[in-house]
Amino acid sequence: MVRPEKPEGTVTLFDVKFGSNNFWSSAEDRSYRGEMELSIDNGIIKIINVLSVEEYLYGVVPAEMPTNWPQEALKAQAVAARSETVAKLGRHRSDGFDLCAEVHCQVYSGVEKETELGNMAVDSTRGMILEYNSKAVDAIYSSNCGGHTQDNIFGDKEAVAYFTGIEDMDETRKPVFPLSPFEMESWLKDPPAGIYCNIPEYSKLSGFRWIRIYSAQQLRKMIDNFSAVGEIKRIVVTRRNPSGHVDKLKIVGLDSSCVIEKELNIRKVLGNLRSSMFKVETKYGKNHAPKDFIFYGGGWGHGVGMCQAGSCGMSKLGKSYQEILRHYFSRAHLKKIY
Ligand SMILES: [Zn+2]
Ligand SMILES: [Zn+2]
Repeated sequence: MVRPEKPEGTVTLFDVKFGSNNFWSSAEDRSYRGEMELSIDNGIIKIINVLSVEEYLYGVVPAEMPTNWPQEALKAQAVAARSETVAKLGRHRSDGFDLCAEVHCQVYSGVEKETELGNMAVDSTRGMILEYNSKAVDAIYSSNCGGHTQDNIFGDKEAVAYFTGIEDMDETRKPVFPLSPFEMESWLKDPPAGIYCNIPEYSKLSGFRWIRIYSAQQLRKMIDNFSAVGEIKRIVVTRRNPSGHVDKLKIVGLDSSCVIEKELNIRKVLGNLRSSMFKVETKYGKNHAPKDFIFYGGGWGHGVGMCQAGSCGMSKLGKSYQEILRHYFSRAHLKKIY
């Protein structure tokens, strides 16, 4: 798969279907670098795009980060995406290729997504990956960590070792995590200065801090789909990770109660919350019955690994891509593999 030369010209495929089984699935014409390998498999034409990792990354990096972001952040993104690519190479060996072009591996849609600045970030970090125990790191990232990245909540034991949650700010300004419930409240409502991912001019304004309000009826409808507990009386956070992300939640209803666990599950059940870093407040109406539930939240995404908004903030403060990667992946090290 690693071929250094850049071939002339591209190949265009018409009506390429993408986003299988997603609401955004569609089809479009796409042009690709490299070569096309066609084979017939059970009456279906299988098309494999053969190209170098670097050419592949030209298409991947701009899909993951806006390329008008500072160059050092883009370089950090390029290294993270390259590490992820190398870690995942051969994932589809039994299908006869290395990687698929969907979210399952990394979204890749050919040359149209490429930009000059994105290609520059790839070229200037050529062959550079993150390694841990002599193996490429599957360098996970998310849009905005809310100010503290999460310990690894997905991976195997080895991955747990290299993703340790960190305060996303300068060493000298660190608040002491884990935070008490009172500290959590001011962390979310009045965050301290100097958090790298608090950059509304780049990251979406609602990415770093957000508020979601559900009426008691709206919330009950959502919870009913998970477990019918009757009229909602209370929401109790029963386990919070050291980073402030909620890991276990108890919903107390008039008839019974239920427990919701795990980051993605919690976010889904509660109407696709932006993250699991939140605090809930209840507003009471007549007869002291809950009227509204207000979620004060921080961050967008799972918060594991590199914080993309934070890498942009660090870059703006003059940090290099090496410093950015060391900050988020402190136990991995940079290595040029070609
Ligand atoms: Zn795949
Ligand atoms: Zn962050």
